[in-house]
Amino acid sequence: MKHVIVIGAGIIGTTTALALAGAGCRVTVIDSQLEAGQETSFANGGLLAANSALPWSSPGTPTQLFKWLGREDAPLLLRPRAIPGLGMWGVRFLANCRADKYYRSAATLTAFGQQSLASMERLLGRNTVASGIQRGGLLELIRGKDAQRRAETFAQMLERMGAKVKRLDAAQSVALEPTLAPIADTIGTALLLESDAWGDAHAFSVATAAAAQREGVSFRWGCKVSGLEMANGAIRGVRLHDGTLAADCVVVCAGAMSPSLVAPFGVRLPMAPVKGYSLTIAADDIGFLPQRPIVDDYEHIGVAPLGDKLRVAGTVEFDGFDKTLRAGRVDNLKRALNRLFPQIRLPAELNPWCGLRPMAADGLPIISPTAVPRLFVNTAHGALGWTLACGSADLVTSMVTGQSDGRDTPFSLTRSFW
Ligand SMILES: Cc1cc2nc3c(=O)[nH]c(=O)nc-3n(C[C@H](O)[C@H](O)[C@H](O)COP(=O)(O)OP(=O)(O)OC[C@H]3O[C@@H](n4cnc5c(N)ncnc54)[C@H](O)[C@@H]3O)c2cc1C
Repeated sequence: MKHVIVIGAGIIGTTTALALAGAGCRVTVIDSQLEAGQETSFANGGLLAANSALPWSSPGTPTQLFKWLGREDAPLLLRPRAIPGLGMWGVRFLANCRADKYYRSAATLTAFGQQSLASMERLLGRNTVASGIQRGGLLELIRGKDAQRRAETFAQMLERMGAKVKRLDAAQSVALEPTLAPIADTIGTALLLESDAWGDAHAFSVATAAAAQREGVSFRWGCKVSGLEMANGAIRGVRLHDGTLAADCVVVCAGAMSPSLVAPFGVRLPMAPVKGYSLTIAADDIGFLPQRPIVDDYEHIGVAPLGDKLRVAGTVEFDGFDKTLRAGRVDNLKRALNRLFPQIRLPAELNPWCGLRPMAADGLPIISPTAVPRLFVNTAHGALGWTLACGSADLVTSMVTGQSDGRDTPFSLTRSFW
């Protein structure tokens, strides 16, 4: 039986471990944290946004980036001091903003998002995971100048990519989601993406880790991989503080930390960390909960009801690997939330959090073999790791087990990142 080491127990690592175990591999997962989903998978937006899985490198992004350069109150903040560190990644990111590339990547991501959600449903159908996934669609609010025209263009683009989109006017939006009543006069059009879902990615990481353990997967918690071990030009295992653990294959699912693990072997992952923030607020404290996730394109935030809590997520910050929780950025999120729900009474307990989205320059994940035999990567899921987790786990498993060589997919490391 093939022994596979999975580095990382975020949402990508735990789903990968479960899929590998299901395919008959002996699996060991190693994570420096003490539990699954403690890094970027901890308090993300919760959206399983399969039908609007879009790359951030869009034709409008360069203008926004430079308009908001260095502005602490901007939803998208590029700190001037971060620019040198972005280097070639930044140049590639901008190159990916051209319209033809954006639409191609958007279509690829949306198709993969839909495939991934179907894979999650199959996993849940096998009933091995306590999920907490909720279904009922996601509401995209298009507000501000020229909202109706922009909404129609956006809806048509999503429909071309296979999404089912329902157009709602302001009155229909409020009928569906009464919490929007106070801002009814600002809603141009809302798009209901009925087949999208949502849930708590951290809870799902813990549940998939537990399911994997029941399938025989071993977990080594609080254990940092300090390097990869090679023999005769191929991977042989990983280096830990107490020695080497041997394996037939290694799959790197280390989120934003993935590039540094593989770089010593000449494997370059064109990725950068992109910081984002969230708040998690008890429904009892605010007195209401929307019934489904709402993405507000005007405030650049998404909100989702997670059990008896409201999760609010957003903001984009290029700030290297710095995970400092900045009060100014938290205040931005609070202000945006206040403008979406003017009726809200914000409590003292907001549970602010930030995480580093592991982002490739073209916005697609990297799920691929590498030039090092038996070394694979499943990473760079950017703002869509929760949405794409189960499909990515299936895909990398097919490579590890030899069912596919992984070289002709849009997620291969050998693709052009330009
Ligand atoms: C604010 C915000 C909102 C978001 N909202 C959404 C959303 O609504 N929907 C969506 O689909 N996605 C969303 N995302 C993106 C999603 O959260 C990420 O894509 C996903 O969590 C990445 O998962 P991962 O497993 O690759 O990384 P992580 O969750 O970071 O896991 C990596 C793991 O690797 C471990 N590790 C790293 N290096 C080592 C080492 N050397 N040795 C041992 N262990 C190691 C870490 O401890 C960690 O546990 C959001 C992200 C942010 C920041």
